[in-house]
Amino acid sequence: MLHNGEQEREPLDFLPTERNTAVNDQTPNETSKNFIEIEIEKDFATKPALAGKQVATRFPPEPNGYLHIGHAKSICLNFGLARTYGGTCNLRFDDTNPTKENDEYVQSIMEDVRWLGFQWDALYYASDYFEQLYQWAVQLIRDGKAFVCDLQSEQMREYRGTLTEPGKNSPYRDRSIEENIDLFQRMKAGEFPDGARTLRAKIDMAAHNLNLRDPVMYRIMHAHHHRTGDKWCIYPMYDWAHGQSDSIEGITHSICTLEFENHRPLYDWFCQSLGIYHPRQMEFARMNLSYTVMSKRKLLQLVTEKHVEGWDDPRMPTISGLRRRGYTPESLHLFCERIGVARFNSTIDVIVLESSVRDHLNSIASRYMAILDPIKVVITNYPDSTEFLDAVNNPEDESAGSRQLPFSKELYIEREDFMETPPSKFFRLKPGGEVRLRYAYIIRCDEVVKDEAGNIVELRCTYDPETKSGSATASERKVKGTIHWVSANHAASVTVRLYDRLFLNENPEDVPAGKTFLDNINPDSVRSVQAFVEPELAAQAPGTRVQFERNGYYCVDTKDSQPGHPVFNRIVTLKDTWAKIAAKK
Ligand code: ATP
Ligand code: MG
Repeated sequence: MLHNGEQEREPLDFLPTERNTAVNDQTPNETSKNFIEIEIEKDFATKPALAGKQVATRFPPEPNGYLHIGHAKSICLNFGLARTYGGTCNLRFDDTNPTKENDEYVQSIMEDVRWLGFQWDALYYASDYFEQLYQWAVQLIRDGKAFVCDLQSEQMREYRGTLTEPGKNSPYRDRSIEENIDLFQRMKAGEFPDGARTLRAKIDMAAHNLNLRDPVMYRIMHAHHHRTGDKWCIYPMYDWAHGQSDSIEGITHSICTLEFENHRPLYDWFCQSLGIYHPRQMEFARMNLSYTVMSKRKLLQLVTEKHVEGWDDPRMPTISGLRRRGYTPESLHLFCERIGVARFNSTIDVIVLESSVRDHLNSIASRYMAILDPIKVVITNYPDSTEFLDAVNNPEDESAGSRQLPFSKELYIEREDFMETPPSKFFRLKPGGEVRLRYAYIIRCDEVVKDEAGNIVELRCTYDPETKSGSATASERKVKGTIHWVSANHAASVTVRLYDRLFLNENPEDVPAGKTFLDNINPDSVRSVQAFVEPELAAQAPGTRVQFERNGYYCVDTKDSQPGHPVFNRIVTLKDTWAKIAAKK
């Protein structure tokens, strides 16, 4: 993978603001309304059922894994609508599948929503409604709109038909209401084994939409539920639980992803058949991200098979992983704004995510100097003393102030900032050449010291005292390059983890026969190095985000850092290194 040494550098490399504005130019008008907002406004203006109501949305995760960046999109959309229109947004756990769900996931989801800056108006669980759903199912049976079916899942599939052929009625479809009620009660009482029977809606086996071909409402599952324990052994299907939960909560707009578009007629059928309050389901496109897998099932596989260190591994696209990596809530909001709300499925370039965090950190992160691959510089004409130089913490934010930077005779610079036989446009240090040290002086390289094997071990240089940054005489002499450095005797040694993308391919799931997405894992997605950094960096608290000048943004890891021994996670490089590789191809 890309090592720092392979990044190209421009002569004066301290202009992240300018670089980043290119991204802003491409973004759509961030104040324009999305299609969901337009529809909501239309509904409130025209539908009598909404008179006097407020916009009410919900975010309905299934607690079967940690949330990912796709969920962040849904969270920003649902909570954002409530905020925009002064309405409400509930957090509802869609916990109808007891075998895959647990409380660890519930807790992590709440933490992630809060971290994104949202507070739900009410917290619910679909399991809160199990009793009401059961009563409503009985009502549908009494109305002749639901029946108990003894077909096994394999047979049910055969009876279902295909997209081009109608299905066949189940032989159990015409059971009497009394028999259905009796069997359904006995299903609930636990008299039958898993899979023996189902409760199905009685709609139309010839419907073009397969979801309307007598869909299953309940299945028998003798499983312990993380909240209701062993009270239930029949569990509602998503379609039966979801719309009814929305209805109970008075949701006005139930926003879900496109794969549920075909379920909408069923959503409507249930509400209409029960004669209950009827929310409007609306769909938007699922977000996909290049170089990323996003299904919880695959993320779970990465965790359980230990391809990563956990759900919050800084390479994971989970909200907890992004948080630990150093992403800010603001950067995720910015990202969600920039990608907008799409009607059709597409894949977002991960560069948009990376530039969102770069843009936010550019304005808030203090700058420091860090040397990841050191080469020693000895300034032969400098005294054996320490001088403290004034360094600006953040040129984008005056209130960040400045600090005192120790400078002395022995320094480290990046190995890549020196070349013995450089090309003509190389403006950093070279034999006989001059370069400016950031915040300090112009130095000239007089001698290259090598070990017996021919490796460069030291550069012997001289400095010009008249060129001190900020002094009256500094501007009299100009050089084309400025490089960063740290004072060898003052530097702290810290661990730096250089993260890169977890997958090598733009679409990790696009694999030839016999391969899986796991074959696309980037073997160099993390590399750990010891770096020499300014002394102040050793004292940064976990979670602090900084810029290593000319390099990238880093965050002090919240798990592996010890007091005085921070571990820095690379959040993102200052420039998009992958675009350069693509351009060279
Ligand atoms: P996954 O397939 O990754 O497990 P899911 O849709 O099953 O996702 P849920 O917990 O059911 O996960 O999702 C909660 C909400 O988040 C749903 O409303 C869903 O539509 C939305 N959501 C999930 N993934 C995305 C995505 N990639 N883009 C936008 N919204 C998403
Ligand atoms: Mg799901």
